[in-house]
Amino acid sequence: MAGDDYDYDLIVLGAGSGGVRAARLTAAGGRRVALVEKGRVGGTCVLRGCVPKKLMFYAAHFGEEIEDARGFGWRLDGEPRLDWAAFMAAKNSELDRLEGIYRRIQRENGVEIVEGFGRLAGPRAVEVDGRPLTAGTILIAVGGRPSLPDIPGIEHAITSDGALDLERLPDRMTIVGGGYIAVEFAGIFNALGVDVTVVIRSGAVLRGFDEDLCATLASEMEKKGIRIRRECLVRSIERMPDGTLSLRLAGGDEWETDSVLYATGRVPNTDGLGLAEAGVTLNGNGAVVVDALSRTSLEGVYAVGDVTDRANLTPVAIREASCFVETAFHGNPTAMDYDAIPTAVFSQPPLATVGLTEAAARARGPVDIYITRFKPMKHALSGRDERVMMKLVVDRADGRLLGAHMVGHEAPEIMQTLAVAVKAGLTKADLDAVVAIHPTTAEELVLMREPVPDPCPEETN
Ligand code: NDP
Repeated sequence: MAGDDYDYDLIVLGAGSGGVRAARLTAAGGRRVALVEKGRVGGTCVLRGCVPKKLMFYAAHFGEEIEDARGFGWRLDGEPRLDWAAFMAAKNSELDRLEGIYRRIQRENGVEIVEGFGRLAGPRAVEVDGRPLTAGTILIAVGGRPSLPDIPGIEHAITSDGALDLERLPDRMTIVGGGYIAVEFAGIFNALGVDVTVVIRSGAVLRGFDEDLCATLASEMEKKGIRIRRECLVRSIERMPDGTLSLRLAGGDEWETDSVLYATGRVPNTDGLGLAEAGVTLNGNGAVVVDALSRTSLEGVYAVGDVTDRANLTPVAIREASCFVETAFHGNPTAMDYDAIPTAVFSQPPLATVGLTEAAARARGPVDIYITRFKPMKHALSGRDERVMMKLVVDRADGRLLGAHMVGHEAPEIMQTLAVAVKAGLTKADLDAVVAIHPTTAEELVLMREPVPDPCPEETN
């Protein structure tokens, strides 16, 4: 043991978004840091989530752009086609490049990457494939993994991991679930020419998002040819002799498809980590229970990111990691602020949101709702029947912006900026005072003047 009797000042379990940020910042401050990882460096976001998904989103969307170009006079001889193998090779080489950068940055900041499976062996002790290591502080940042229901034939289903690495595109795909991952892949595979059906157990996709957002997205998805089977549960999956998959649905119906993608949520990756045995409290979902400073029930052990199942988004994990470093190493206890976190869903068209939904805001008090729906100028010539929906939720008492929601091209880019207004507590009058940039889609945000009449004022406000 060195220095203060521990091998390291910090051992981080998991080299995902939260882990690498915490390791780098701590090592850059002159501390001895080990980053333990059993697989590749980068985590879900870089290797199995946001990055490859966004590349696939672009690849899929180019198909629509090429079609739209015809309306502007472009003559594209022959049928354009996607070389799937070429795309996958380009995508994989980009992921390799990013992983290389992540490793280099850790190295350059003095982080020691320890390869192997790390488990907590007691207070201030870790074992990596049986090798004992000690540290004054331990950070658990092992993320999550897809969760699959236990039904007969579930082994025939793929998850988002498999969807990002398909060797060839199926003719038909059935996607079970209606959350972020389901609607993102539904848009991607539909745009790539796959016949997509989404099976949801409730009546709406993206339950929990603003209802106008969910309804608009569902209608845009259906216009593009995506089938949505609502209030429908899959009981079992069987592979038929010809290779097709037969789904038996609750109620007795059968449904044939070529590929089944399950996107029914994710669970924390805590199996086999020795956490409960060492005295770290987990909740019923297996998530590490932490306080506002990301401290677990065991002295010196912290946790950040999806393993804590708070707000499972990459930028949140990164921010939690920065707060952890302030708290644990700079004598500056810092709690993450979870208020008004903007988020985007890269569906086709994409959507983005920040702040309160209309329903959540109405539960707090009277609100004014501003909604605009329009066909963007680009589609005047493209002929595409795709509309934009923007919605502002405003506190009737003081005009403060409580929430903003948008479906449409560039919604995520636009919402990042609008989120500043919501987070800063600006008012509808502040938006109105801004001069529009014309002609843009975003200008509508500063041009909405009349709130929609309350559908039933006695019941809603
Ligand atoms: P979500 O929690 O977003 O959605 C899960 C979906 O699966 C819901 O529609 C849910 O239905 C349904 N479901 C759950 N269990 C079952 C079941 N047994 N049978 C049928 N349907 C079921 O999970 P995802 O897997 O889509 O994504 C996981 C997380 O990853 C997200 O919450 C998000 O935090 C993160 N993520 C973020 C992205 C982004 O920022 N763009 C992109 C992708 C993922 P119901 O509505 O009825 O509960």
